[in-house]
This record gives sequence, C-alpha cells and structure tokens, in this order.
Amino acid sequence: MKFFFNIIHWLSSQKHAYFLFGLLFIIPNCVLFFTELLPVTVGIASLLLPLAFWYAVLLLAKKPGIVVWCLLPKVILDGGQLVLLYLFGESVIAVDMFLNLTSSNASEASELLGNIFLVIICVFFFYTLPTLWLAYHSIRMKEKLSVSFRKKWAVRSFGMFLVGVLFCCLAPLQDFLFSLKNDIYPANALYNLYFAVTKSEKNANYHLTSADFKFNSSRFAHADGKREIYVLVVGETSRAMEWSLYGYERKTTPRLEKLNGLVHFKDVITQSNNTHKSVPIILSAASAENYGVIYDEKSIVTAFKEAGFRTLVIANQKLTTSMIGAFYREADTFIDMSSFKTGSYLTSLHDGALLPYLEKELKKTDDNMFIVLHTYGSHFNYHERYPKEFCFYMPDKAEGIRASYKKELRNAYDNSIHYTDYVLSEVAGLLEKTGACASMLYLSDHGEDIFDDSRNRYLHASPIPTYYQLHIPYILWFSEEYRDIFPEKYQTALAHESVPVSTNSVFHTMLDIAGVRTDESDSTLALTSSAFTVRDRMFLGDHDEPVPFWKMGLKKADFEMLDKWGIVYDKDE
Ligand SMILES: [Zn+2]
Repeated sequence: MKFFFNIIHWLSSQKHAYFLFGLLFIIPNCVLFFTELLPVTVGIASLLLPLAFWYAVLLLAKKPGIVVWCLLPKVILDGGQLVLLYLFGESVIAVDMFLNLTSSNASEASELLGNIFLVIICVFFFYTLPTLWLAYHSIRMKEKLSVSFRKKWAVRSFGMFLVGVLFCCLAPLQDFLFSLKNDIYPANALYNLYFAVTKSEKNANYHLTSADFKFNSSRFAHADGKREIYVLVVGETSRAMEWSLYGYERKTTPRLEKLNGLVHFKDVITQSNNTHKSVPIILSAASAENYGVIYDEKSIVTAFKEAGFRTLVIANQKLTTSMIGAFYREADTFIDMSSFKTGSYLTSLHDGALLPYLEKELKKTDDNMFIVLHTYGSHFNYHERYPKEFCFYMPDKAEGIRASYKKELRNAYDNSIHYTDYVLSEVAGLLEKTGACASMLYLSDHGEDIFDDSRNRYLHASPIPTYYQLHIPYILWFSEEYRDIFPEKYQTALAHESVPVSTNSVFHTMLDIAGVRTDESDSTLALTSSAFTVRDRMFLGDHDEPVPFWKMGLKKADFEMLDKWGIVYDKDE
C-alpha cells in the first residue's frame, strides 16, 4: 500500500507526469524495436525520433495531460497496436488490418473478438486506462510546467530529434533504405490507414471504373454439342498438409481419393493470406504482379457470360461490401446464403446446405453453365463448420483459441476438412449425374496457423505469413464425358501435378478448361495448357506490391516446412 502511495506522490509532479507520458507514448515503439529486426541504426532512430517528437508535442500545454487527452486517437491506436503485437508477435498495424475492420462480416468479427477479448481487456486496463487516468490527474493538478522547463526540454527534444535523424542517415551503411512511412511507428500505421482508405474508395468506385470493360470472350473449343458445366469452388482456410490426398496421416479426404478424373497440384502457394485479397485474384485476371487491374476489369463470371454461359454464384460467406461481392453480382443468378437464417446458434450454414440449390439450378435449363461456389470451409470456429456426423476426431470443442486447446482445435480442423471432402465429392457427383462435359476446380484462398510450432501462431492474415498460411490444396476434377472429349487437357493437367504454381493460375486454367479465349487470357498460366510456364511466385505485399513469397519475412521454421513439403523457392536469395 505504501508503495502505491509513493507512486501517487511521485506522479503528483507535472514534470514527472511529463516524462512518464513521453515513455508511455513509445511503448509500442519499444516492443517493435525487438520484433521488427531493423538494422541497429534504424532501430535506435525508431525510438529516438518518436520520443523526441512526443516530448516536444507534450510541451504544447502547460499541463501535459491536456495534450494526452487531445491525442486520444493516438492512445487508442497504441492500444490496437499492442493487441496486434500480442496476436502476431510482430508487425505494425497493416493495411489489411484496417480493411478487415470494415470488410469482415459481423459474425466473423465477433468470433475473433470473442477469442481475443481478454487481450483487449488487458491492454485497456494496463495501458489505455492508466494513461488516460494519469492525463486526467495531470489536468486536475494545480501545478503547471514552468516556462524555463518547457524551453529547456524544447531544446533537448530538438537535439534528440537531430541525433535520431543522424542515425537514419547511417542506414545506407547497413544496406538499408530508410523510410518514415515504413519504419517509424506511428507514421507507418497512419500511412497504412491512409492506404486502406484510398483502397476502400477504389472498391466503392469499382462499378464505375470497370463499367466499360469487355473481355471479348470467344470459344476455341466446344464439347461436340454436349452440355458443358464448369465449376469453380473457392475454399476457405484449408491447408494442403491436412489433406490425406496430400499425404496427411489422418484419412481426411477419403472420398476425393476415390474419384476418377481427379488431379491434385502439390506445390501451390497462395498470393495472399487474406481472403479479401486472395479471392479477387482467384476470380479475376489480376495477379500479385498486376493487382491494380482489379479496379478496371471485370471477373471470370463476366468472361464466361460473354462466351455464352449461364452464370451462377452460390456463396456461403457474407461478402456484400467487398470486391468479391461486386464480382458475384455480375452473375445471372447470385444466391447469397449468408443472408439465410441458420435456425440454430450457428452464425453460418454448413457448406452442404448449398448442394440442394446447386442441384435445382443444374436442372432448371439445359444451358451451358459456369458456376462459382464460395464455401466457408475451415474458417474459425472450426467445430461450427460441420454437422455432428463429421465428428470423427474428438474432443473437438475448444473453449477458446489457446495453445492448451491445440488438440481440440486440430481435431475440429481435421473434421472440417473431412466435411469439405464430402461437399466436394457431392458436387462432383451432381455434375457426373447430369452427363455433361463437366469439370470442377477447387482451391483454398489461404491456409492457417494452428499453434504448429514454438511460435504459437494462430489464424491467418498476419502481415508476415508463415508456411502454414501459404501452402494450399488445389485440385481439378474432370467428368468422364470431359475426359473422353478433351483427353489432352486431362493428361496435361496430370503432367503438371508437381509444378510450382499460385492462385493467379485459376482464371487462366478455368477458361482454358472450358475452351474460352479472352483478351486477358494467358495460356502460360493455365495448368491444362502445354504452354504452361514455371515462374517465380509472388506474394501480394501490404501495399499491394509483388514480393517473392520467400522474401516475405518467413522464418527458419517456415523454410524447414517448405523443404519438407517440396515447395520450390529461390534458395540462393
Ligand atoms: Zn479466407
């Protein structure tokens, strides 16, 4: 108790409060100093520059508490940054984080928030609230900072700032290109916020910027008067390493393994670990290499529509505000299952619920069809993604997302893969039943961390990905009719089973399977084309720039897994 009173007494000095506020303001910088692995000179500058800046700013009022309350948004931002550092163990708040705040659907956000609630509470009670209470205390004090003290510390802050600038100037000696918007918190977080706002505006204007776009689609192959149906299934949060088809010891994909006409691509890396960036790449001609075209061009749905196909999208994810939703509204029929009532505590329907709608639409006409099925796959909370008949691995109920529940989480995750295996084989069954020349392409948008190693990482969409978020399952299935009419397409796909490939191949492969040519088609990216060419695989960086995926800050543990699974990357760089 005496200790507590001593602290209160010490804080009853405006000067002490001033020094303390300066230090509290750079707590996120201190954590980032250890997590961001910057060259020493830049690391020191990343502490000195903000400290000098805040010490100068705190002098703007005679009571520094007034400045702190005026900087309330910064205090809140700091809280968010600290929560993020706890979650991912590294990285400043990324553009994607800001965008996810607005684009995640309510149930997804509440599932996640429910699990990090304790962290948020801790940061609030141990950082945000004490800072604001101290500021209030400073305002209530009669004492003010003297003119001489403020002058002295204005000069000292300026001196500290100059030393910080000097350290920045030394960065090139360590082969490092310093930039304020990347390396100094909160300048980098604010730049990311600005970038996110600009991007949201582009999303909102998509219907205008893409209005006049045309693919000029034409057919270079037909199925001899037979009905043609091509299906793209967009998966969610599935890891190749968890599929027995890929060698996982648990039999999670028994049905697919028995399917005739199935090809699985072993070395597939996603171009983004974030749904809202990965799925638009899957659905369009955009790649990490040219992501900007996404705002000017339409999606694969329109490419097929122009070629005379009836287009159908059934989505089990709420996507109304994102680019994905805009793409789906291009379809002749868009069934948004996320708007359906689940009739239980579940926040979304199980993916199997889309099968009756698919069956009904297949029977409606004899048109050639292009269909997109967007599943909820293995998204957290895993145990809510499958019905009880799929509780193969038990126990599967985790009380929260904690390392101590790894067994339950992995069991539930594997059950969800088992269920995906069921849903996909049912889709193939429905297609086979039509007797059409049909094909299905399935891939996941990204993987996931589930407390896999000593880093104790979990979930996805972190600014720096891991092996577990990158390596995805990617399969092609061809109906018997298709294999009869286009045997060379099937054979070429089989021959490409082991080639290194990314999510940007989907658009080109899907169109090549269907014999559709467009102005944007690139046969060197089509897995069913003999023109397919192996290339370095890029990952879409936080500022939408292409980065070779192995240069995204992967750690030793990730490279060990890449090697174990035979994933190709440039080992000399
Ligand atoms: Zn996703």
